[in-house]
Amino acid sequence: MTAAAGTVYLVGAGPGDPGLITVRGLELLRTCDVVLYDRLVAAELLAEVKADAEKIFVGKTPGQTHSRQLVSDALLVSKASEGKSVVRLKGGDPFVFGRGAEEAALLRASSIPFEIVPGVTSATAVPAYAGIPVTHRGLSASFVVLTAREEGGDADPDVSKLSVGAETLVLLMGVAALEKIARRLVESGRDPREPAATIEWGTTGKQKVVVGKLDTIAEKAAASGIRPPATTIVGPVVSLRDSLRWFEDRPLFGRTVAVTRPPQGSRELTTRLVQLGADVVSLPLIDIAEPDSWAAADEALAKLSDYSWVVFASMHAVARTFARLRSLDLDARAFAHTKIACVGERTRHELAHHGLSADLVPERFTGAEMVAGLGDGPGTVLFPRVQDGPPEPVSALTEHGWQVDDVAVYSNIPGKPDASNLQRWADGDVDIVTFTSASTVTNLGAVAGHPGSSPLVVCIGPSTERAAREAGLDVAAVAEPHDTGGLVAAVLHAARSMQS
Ligand code: SAH
Repeated sequence: MTAAAGTVYLVGAGPGDPGLITVRGLELLRTCDVVLYDRLVAAELLAEVKADAEKIFVGKTPGQTHSRQLVSDALLVSKASEGKSVVRLKGGDPFVFGRGAEEAALLRASSIPFEIVPGVTSATAVPAYAGIPVTHRGLSASFVVLTAREEGGDADPDVSKLSVGAETLVLLMGVAALEKIARRLVESGRDPREPAATIEWGTTGKQKVVVGKLDTIAEKAAASGIRPPATTIVGPVVSLRDSLRWFEDRPLFGRTVAVTRPPQGSRELTTRLVQLGADVVSLPLIDIAEPDSWAAADEALAKLSDYSWVVFASMHAVARTFARLRSLDLDARAFAHTKIACVGERTRHELAHHGLSADLVPERFTGAEMVAGLGDGPGTVLFPRVQDGPPEPVSALTEHGWQVDDVAVYSNIPGKPDASNLQRWADGDVDIVTFTSASTVTNLGAVAGHPGSSPLVVCIGPSTERAAREAGLDVAAVAEPHDTGGLVAAVLHAARSMQS
């Protein structure tokens, strides 16, 4: 379902793992005009919105006053009144300590249509990712979710009435008050020796779990430096973690991996690393921009049928060529009389996305492989690619009798990582850094500066490796084959060589 004009959708984003948003929530996010989001919402989800959608942060950071709620309320009403489709993206489920109902009431009072898209709440999902079910036959037939602090206020909720009413207790928002709450629970009848666990940043690569007893958990959590967001679970089900833990056992769990690809092309790599348990830091060292001039490309695209071959050497070359074709009022039919070569699987995928299959897919971007595939000329080859790309593939083709039109369809510019991710790099909070082209390596110093520690270096292929060595870096692993799958395997290899 697509987001409708003038409507507000209160959407649950899930507890942290971006894969835990609902199908409906994701569809709305991908089609809305405006998204208003909170602090705990995964960055990967925000990357799903349309390029021209407005993304507005309206969350509170801990300790802040209420003013942001007012800003958020005003924006909800004004954006929807302008006829925009608005997604109000909230952590977990919007109706579980999420103020969703207050916002819905405000929208009703303003006669703005709204829909609620429930989410996976941290109350059950965070314990689940720690291997703790909230109910279990024979151990717990009930669970209560309570807050250790009332949202927006300092009032103490009365825990005594709940303390003995359910086998499992789930406490949200309670890091600072944990000691007081635990004491009250004991005073009102809970067994101080009952198992308890506190889980920080559950369902994400930063997940940290501390296990203790009701009377020790606050102290243990403090000693381990647990900070919000954290969820505490109390009850006999906590003991199941010993046999059911799974999330932390994945091979890259506890490893922080930097991805330096431009944001447009990093989704597959990021997703695969996250699925293996890594905490991925997006550190784009290059970005894709317009070429200095479109003149040569436009001239070539207008006479595509004159070429024997078109050679695409990267997914960006394909994406940019098709975007340009569209702006010239042309489409895939322009390739009807031309054979197409794609270097590598990602490039082939991007081409398939535009409805075309490649006639030739050389694995590597070397002159020799290109020539082996295309054979000898004569004939003309169109090579739409990065501005100022390396000369070798062109000269190899020329030497074999081809006339090559080497035209720029994009240029590489330095990337712009988020300040918080640059800080993590500077703090030495990156274990492994992946380089996916020589230009990611050469831009490293200028864009990100020196790392606070020496992360292991993983490269996608030989020319990237060469650039890394020339920059004085030790290379821990090189992808084989030189694609995303190979790179992920190389990261796993590097991770295994680290001490735990
Ligand atoms: N509506 C949300 C809860 C909002 S209250 C939901 O349904 O999940 C915010 C509290 O949720 C945090 O203080 C913390 O206790 C808990 N929480 C949210 N995300 C969490 C996470 N990734 N790990 C642990 N606790 C989390």
